[in-house]
Amino acid sequence: MIRNIFLLLLLIGIIFSCSVPEETDTGKVKVVATTGMLYDAVINIGGDKIEAEAIMGPGVDPHLYKATQGDLSKFNKADLIIYNGILLEGKMSEVLEKLGRQKTVFAVAESIPEEMLLPSADYKDAFDPHVWFDVKRWSLIVKEIKKSLAAIDTANANYYQKNTNIYLKELDSLDSFAKSRILEIPENSRILITAHDAFSYFGDAYGIQVKGLQGISTVADFGLKDIANIIDIIISNNIKAIFVETSVSEKSINAVVTGCKEKGHEVRIGGYLYSDAMGEFGTLEGTYLGMFRKNVNTIVDALK
Ligand SMILES: [Zn+2]
Repeated sequence: MIRNIFLLLLLIGIIFSCSVPEETDTGKVKVVATTGMLYDAVINIGGDKIEAEAIMGPGVDPHLYKATQGDLSKFNKADLIIYNGILLEGKMSEVLEKLGRQKTVFAVAESIPEEMLLPSADYKDAFDPHVWFDVKRWSLIVKEIKKSLAAIDTANANYYQKNTNIYLKELDSLDSFAKSRILEIPENSRILITAHDAFSYFGDAYGIQVKGLQGISTVADFGLKDIANIIDIIISNNIKAIFVETSVSEKSINAVVTGCKEKGHEVRIGGYLYSDAMGEFGTLEGTYLGMFRKNVNTIVDALK
């Protein structure tokens, strides 16, 4: 009798293990985000109730990135696709638009009221997509991501709200930290020079003038005239340091340093800034909070 029960249980076990499909569906909402910044917002809100993936890793330039076959398969399996929009992912817009006809595809930066967006220096009648560099604007985006998650997964809406409330508090203290640290730089030295115009929102929010060598997008190349202009600004304002970006070639910034030297002005490279991509996932700089804090410290320590 006992032996028969044992055999029966064994048989049931075999049947069940055979019927499990190759890819187990956990029933969790599948979210795919394009940039690391968006992925980080998504996992802070979604916690263990979602499965999230990022398309672009550290050091990847979103202006130039094209979707791979692997990305397309991730997009196809997703319940929710989150991207920045305002042409940040310029080479993926067509793919994302097409997917938007079949599933929820959300261009988060486009949810920010137009009067809070800054104009693009490159394109007429367009806006600057680098909205994550003002923590206040980013907080609006975090709230919008929460809304879209809660709409798809109403059963966990309260859970997402609770996580969002906690995260917004952390963003708030990050915003205060940035504001108070920037004040350490003498007022006439508050000029941030970088390889491309990623920091306009940062400048707007934290009171620092921003000059990029390459414009809003990295697609267009920089010219000798741009370099000469930046050199003039550095010399006439006696700027001590300029910055390289982790997702943009150092070539342009090195040309500026050399150009200043030839004119008898020493300017040094103040360090690497995370602009359009964050650090390695799993490190502090691989999170939005850590990346932002690191940038602020790098800027202030070099310019103060
Ligand atoms: Zn950019």
